[in-house]
Parts: sequence; C-alpha cells; structure tokens
Amino acid sequence: MGEGFLSRRHTLGFVGRLVGLVVLWGCTQSTKPQESFNLPNRSLTTEPEIQVRLLDLAEFNCNVGAPSTITRLKGKPYAGELTVSCSQKGTQTNWVLRRGATVLVEQQSDVFQLTSSESMTVNTEIFPTTSLSMRIEGDRLEVVGTFDLETYLPGVLQRELYPNWHPNTYRALAVAARSFSLVKMQDRRGKFWHVRASPSDQAFAGGEVRPIALDAVKSTRGQVLTWNNHILCTYYSSCCGGRPARASDTFAATSNAIAPLSGQGRPCPCQASKRYRWTTEVSGRLLGNRVGLQTVRSIKPIRTNPWGRAIKLQLQDVKGATADLTPEALRGHITALGGKAFSGWILKSESRRGVLTLDGAGFGHGVGLCQFGAEARASKGVSWREILALSYPGAKISPNWGP
Ligand SMILES: [Zn+2]
Repeated sequence: MGEGFLSRRHTLGFVGRLVGLVVLWGCTQSTKPQESFNLPNRSLTTEPEIQVRLLDLAEFNCNVGAPSTITRLKGKPYAGELTVSCSQKGTQTNWVLRRGATVLVEQQSDVFQLTSSESMTVNTEIFPTTSLSMRIEGDRLEVVGTFDLETYLPGVLQRELYPNWHPNTYRALAVAARSFSLVKMQDRRGKFWHVRASPSDQAFAGGEVRPIALDAVKSTRGQVLTWNNHILCTYYSSCCGGRPARASDTFAATSNAIAPLSGQGRPCPCQASKRYRWTTEVSGRLLGNRVGLQTVRSIKPIRTNPWGRAIKLQLQDVKGATADLTPEALRGHITALGGKAFSGWILKSESRRGVLTLDGAGFGHGVGLCQFGAEARASKGVSWREILALSYPGAKISPNWGP
C-alpha cells in the first residue's frame, strides 16, 4: 500500500503487459459494512494460507515462465525448466506445458495448477510457494501462488519499506500487514485469490528477502491487531502529510467509523517523505469538463476532519459556479488528466493562464499506520507496540492470528 520501494515497481520479466496497478490503497475499497471485521473470534491453531495474485497479464498468448525444476501436474513429476503458456479458443482455455520446444502436456481447463516440492520461479523471480494456479478472468490471465502467511509477509515488508529503516518500523508493519492479510482472506474467502501483489492491496516481492524483514515477521509471529474481538482492517499508507485521515471519511463503510481507524490529533512526524508536500499542475478547462464546470480557477478545502485534513474540496470555475468533491474523487480526476496527485488532500491552488498549480500533502489515503511517521518515531526510540498504538488508537495486539 505504501510508497516505499514501489518506485522500483515490479521487476518480473514476464512477457506481455502488466496493467492494473490501481492507484487507490486500502483494505476494501468495496467495503461492506461489518464484513471487514468478521473473522472468527478465536485464535487459529495452525498457520493460515493466503492466495496471492502474483501476475495479472493482459495478453493471453503469454509465457508465465519456468515454474520450477521439479514440477508436479496431477501428481506426475516433470523435471527441468518448464514453461506454461495459454491461449483462448472461444470459451475454452488451452494450457501448454513445455520443456524447451517440447510440448509435455496440453490441457483444456478453466484453471491450470502446478505443485512443486521446492520454491517456484515465475518469470525469473523465485517465490516461496509450492503451488501455482492460473486462470483467465475476463480479459486477463491471473497467476496465483499459495503461501503460508508468515512466509508471504517478509516479501511484503521487503517491497513496502526501505532497506535502511528501523527494525521497529518493520515490526509494526509486520503486524499491520498480517492483520490486513487476514481481513482480506476473510473478505475474499472462496475466491480465486485473496490479495494482489500490488499497491492496490499490498506490494510483494519474491527473490531474496532482507534479514530485517525476516526478523520482523519472525519476532512478531502470529500477532495481529484486534478491536472488539475482531481482527482490525489495518489500512496503512506511505505518508499522511502530517494529519491522519479517518477510514469512515475515506472508505465510506459504517464499520470503519471506529476509534482505531479514526487517527488522532497529534501531528504525525512524516516530513522525511518527498511526498509530505508536493506540487502538480492540471488544466483548469479539462478539469472543469470532468466535473460539469467551465474552466476551474480554484480548489480549496471546505471541510476537514477533526485533525485538520481535508475531507471535502470545492472547485470554483471562472463564472463562480462550484462543485464539491471528496479528496479521492478529486485525485481520480487529476490523475486521469495526467497530473501527479499523490493524495487528494489539496492545500491550495493557483491559477495562471488556465493552468492550475496545486499544492498537495501526503502519499496515499492517510488512514492508519503512516510508514514515514512510523520510521521517524522508531528512529527516536519509540517501540513497535507504541507505533501501533499511535496508528490504531485503542486496538489490542493479540497472538496466534486472531483475537
Ligand atoms: Zn504521517
């Protein structure tokens, strides 16, 4: 969800085009009341498994790489470097497993599954999974790996946080990412995957993982944040711009209107982020076109949350007509017009020759843990438990993947 290493993006060398890196962050953009917190009220005795969508390809005639050196398909072993490709004929998906140019298996099925006795490689990146599932969904190919939860989490920290950050930032995010993952698993139970390996859910990397990420997951194993005996939907983002957002303003579900997701008044020390303050430009005329106005000449916050962060912004055009938008909606419009809005929190605007210059704050939705704020606190000696207490006021830390 955070900025962290996302600027590197994914380095998977797959054939085809990676699309769909959605710019919204959060547990459940399609939040349904209550369901986000509806995990069983008991601790799990065994480590849960999570289905992670590793690849989402827009082209069918693609190569999803060499899964493994020893791969099993329906129990039968296939040794050597293998390649899976697929094509669609009408409603049928045709899967082909090859070694070099030799076709080993051809199969028509909705889902293609491979298991292995060792970690599997997907387009040059090795993942700690022994099970891959693939299917065509709509106009894309999805490649999904099954992971033990504690094995998946270090790859999240690896991608979400900077290598030189404090161990307590890693530990705080380990607990938040674990809770987030469990809520997603509950929200999407029975579906083909639980989370996307992308900023729209949580970033995730395969390959070698830094010891600090492994240690953070190990030392917090099984621990999650809970509220009223339910696992908390632990939204987190890169930089809140100094003032946290409330989930109830941002994700519009009644179940989000709870203390741990409402932030608190104390300013967040996240000034080290390059996105703490930023500037972008957008055409006033094109923006006006999108919101039913003539050329927009100003944007200003007209309502803030109790901590001073904008939750409603007013656009005014050259004729004095106005339109009120949420920060999320405004961000969507600016992004669609090619502007770089790292959040929807616009502090002020200036209009010159039809071009609006916007001063904004923060990167991401600003709800819950702020990664740059956590790092600033950790480097001043704040413990990971305190960081979580500041990020999710009133939440409890519970063991064994449950309350
Ligand atoms: Zn912050």
